Amino acid sequence: MSQNIVELTNITKKWGIFTALDNISLNVRKGEILTLLGPSGCGKSTLMRIAAGFESASSGEVTIGGRNMTAVPPEKRPVNMVFQRYALFPHLDVFDNVAFGLRLKGIAKSAVTEQVNAMLNLVQLQDFSNRWIGEISGGQAQRVALARALVNRPSVLLLDEPLAALDLKIRHHMLEELKRIHTETGTTFIYVTHDQDEAMILSDRVVLMNKGTIEQIGTPDEMYGAPKTLFCAKFFGETNLLDGRVQDADGSGAVLSLPVGAATVGTRGLRSGSAVHVSIRPEAINISAATGTSESSNEAVGKVEDVMFIGSRVVYKVRHAEGTLLKCQEPRAAAGIRFGVGSPVSLKWDPASVVVLAS
Ligand code: ATP
Repeated sequence: MSQNIVELTNITKKWGIFTALDNISLNVRKGEILTLLGPSGCGKSTLMRIAAGFESASSGEVTIGGRNMTAVPPEKRPVNMVFQRYALFPHLDVFDNVAFGLRLKGIAKSAVTEQVNAMLNLVQLQDFSNRWIGEISGGQAQRVALARALVNRPSVLLLDEPLAALDLKIRHHMLEELKRIHTETGTTFIYVTHDQDEAMILSDRVVLMNKGTIEQIGTPDEMYGAPKTLFCAKFFGETNLLDGRVQDADGSGAVLSLPVGAATVGTRGLRSGSAVHVSIRPEAINISAATGTSESSNEAVGKVEDVMFIGSRVVYKVRHAEGTLLKCQEPRAAAGIRFGVGSPVSLKWDPASVVVLAS
């Protein structure tokens, strides 16, 4: 049997002449947390709504649990959805909100009580079952929404920006909670967000979307450490993006000419003379005191222009003699910040940390 619980094949969605999704194919593995990530308007919610059945595709196929669900209405699909605004019933208490779907199905009273209590325990709201929705916090309301979606034991739980309405601190706590609940239930999660930190913390795999297409799919580590495109490198965290040219290339790698000097890379298949974009993460650059102005390969010499102290990390902005600004980052040393503004410094990087990007 296929390990894919959801298969979206050649999905296109058009509204008039506007193409919101352009021939997207994507498989979701059983039991994983897969995140659809991308800027506003890239089509994340539309793709999720097509998987749920709230929206129909202009063309393409939706398979869930090995069955073609393309024309099946949402209530007949083995999925459930949690929305950003929770969509709870204000005239019911916490218990009745969670029980609603089970009662609709005509499940016996004692079984409803047992299953609802189990879900309230799972989301740690066992002491709140008699509270009205208006009497609980945003984070608690989100837990009720989760319990209500999970009580029907869906094969797949779809979560559309479920934490967007919560403040940062509660959001981080809820991310941990979501991971725990995912582990305890073993349910497949498809999660939509435009926040790369949320995607990195939560996901087994991330699908980065851009203008109705998939830019890259990978684990958070792959997306951060081995972005394939400029868009992906920019989207995931801080990086130094440099435009350069291939000076020389052979079967084992290439020498690049960058605005901060020469860099060697192990990337194969580059052509001498062609233009390249590269990404070097700030934490991949080592900073030390400069002893002169000459530079070797994989080294840039410049002056510290700004120092940012971000808790456990120190970020230095260094101006290279030719004008380019490079950011480098290191853990805060026990002795404190090592270089002040104006210090002459040498920046060195390991060639393996230079990622050559497709534009
Ligand atoms: P956000 O993060 O802002 O929610 P998103 O990536 O989820 O964005 P979608 O809501 O999927 O984006 O929308 C994708 C594109 O389709 C957008 O340009 C949007 O304006 C358009 N769109 C969505 N729904 C409709 C509709 N009912 N009619 C016409 N265009 C629509």
